[in-house]
Amino acid sequence: MANKGLLLCVCQGNCPSFQKMNIFDVGNAIRREKLVDYMAIHPQLCATDGDRFLSTLLKGESTDELYVAACDPTMQTKMFRDAFAESKFGTDHFHGVEIRNMDTAEAVDAIKKTVGPKAP
Ligand code: SF4
Repeated sequence: MANKGLLLCVCQGNCPSFQKMNIFDVGNAIRREKLVDYMAIHPQLCATDGDRFLSTLLKGESTDELYVAACDPTMQTKMFRDAFAESKFGTDHFHGVEIRNMDTAEAVDAIKKTVGPKAP
């Protein structure tokens, strides 16, 4: 069974694009339904320490599919490229989810649509 990880990133928590949602409630909704194997909130994945976090996390090859709910997925792909290359994580296993300007329920729905149902 594929090991799925979900990271949530909301521009340090003070960006207007993420003010309508409670990011902890978003993460808890996904956790409660056990749709992923791990979930974490990072304050700024596109910063230097975010790069280090991603490459360290993915180096162990224990993540098969990585979901990042945050800003525009095309931007995410560009910003995380170095970390994926450093950890040799295939970009075809990365799934960005746009959750900007959504409320908590909308963000949960957007993530669920991308992650899919729980494995049987
Ligand atoms: S990865 Fe996207 S959501 Fe996260 S801090 Fe950077 S711009 Fe903001």
